[in-house]
Amino acid sequence: MSKESASISKMVSRNHVAAVDLGATHVRAGIIDTEGKILAFSRNEVKGVSDGVEIQKLITDMLADLIRKSRILPKAIGISTAGPVDLKNGSVTGSPNMKCSRIFLTEPLCDQFGIPVSMMTDCKAGALGEYTFGGEKEAGTLVYLTFSTGIGAGVIENGKLLSGSNGNASEVGHFPVDTNWNIPCGCGGTGHWEAYASGTGIPKFFRAWSEKSAECVPNPAITAEEILKAAEIKSPLCLSFSEELAKINGRGLSAVIAAYNPDVIILDGPIVRNHPSLIAGKMTGHLDHYLTIPDIRLSSLDGKAPLLGAACAAFK
Ligand SMILES: [Zn+2]
Repeated sequence: MSKESASISKMVSRNHVAAVDLGATHVRAGIIDTEGKILAFSRNEVKGVSDGVEIQKLITDMLADLIRKSRILPKAIGISTAGPVDLKNGSVTGSPNMKCSRIFLTEPLCDQFGIPVSMMTDCKAGALGEYTFGGEKEAGTLVYLTFSTGIGAGVIENGKLLSGSNGNASEVGHFPVDTNWNIPCGCGGTGHWEAYASGTGIPKFFRAWSEKSAECVPNPAITAEEILKAAEIKSPLCLSFSEELAKINGRGLSAVIAAYNPDVIILDGPIVRNHPSLIAGKMTGHLDHYLTIPDIRLSSLDGKAPLLGAACAAFK
């Protein structure tokens, strides 16, 4: 243990933890209390960084800075990260949406700060955050479903998180939803939900759909945000595309409901938060009729559900 970490361990606050939310685009970090209040917060870009050690160092610097500025020494660190994770050695490994092949996190952070470090995928952390701090403790079976760089879910049943054999359960972004367009997914498969309907998937699906259905070639640099904004101001091409997208989302969401039979589904991620009626509203119109339809609502935690969930795990 370093001198710095030895002195920190003597002064830790039992009522505070540090949490990290590592996504494909940004990393967020905060100091959080037992009520879920974020007392200090910072955010940095990680998009395009291909060196795992560089990301690990950035996170270490962010946490050291938050501890210094808040003058709070947290009792533990909770990490929420884009998956897949290797819980045996505390690393992110082979993520289809990140440029690094592996990022070691738990051991280096534990060595640096001298406090316990826990780690889980961001969707599981999001489910835990919603359950604990989003007013969802009454939900028997809760699915947290997020549309971001990828698509993923976390499932809680009777207060217990579904983890799977190695922490990677509920990778619903890789549910097959199509055999017509055969859009390639970042994982190497084809026809997977996130290849069509995530932040990275929407432009790929839009290009394939435009070329075949509308016989036009869109700007190759067009983003998901630009396509969805154009649909919202009633661009005929983008509006028509959004109907196709809703069918795909209806298939994905139907598969989620069939798999987990949830009481409630919480939708999150910038794709849904920025375009609630276009994405959430339209997809629920394409659900399979035989299903028991749960309550489906938007997250109330302003994009912080995974960070808060990582904090919950650190308190345990
Ligand atoms: Zn896939």
